[in-house]
Amino acid sequence: MKTAGIVRKVDDLGRIVLPAEMRRLLELDRSDVEIFLDGNRICLRKYSPNCIFCGAQEALTQLAGKSVCADCIKKLWERK
Ligand SMILES: [Zn+2]
Repeated sequence: MKTAGIVRKVDDLGRIVLPAEMRRLLELDRSDVEIFLDGNRICLRKYSPNCIFCGAQEALTQLAGKSVCADCIKKLWERK
């Protein structure tokens, strides 16, 4: 992992400002960001929904608040 060497203060509400250059590079403006822990690191990545079964990012449908791809929907219908 590259270290950018940018230090930002966390404000009283837990907010930080992501550097504009990084937001622009990853096209993050007005995007959702996924936040998770990796050991003692706080990781951010641009959120893109995945199929809950296979991880595909194309042809997604929302079912009960979860994303499911067309292939998995087809496989579910074919199950007996
Ligand atoms: Zn799938």
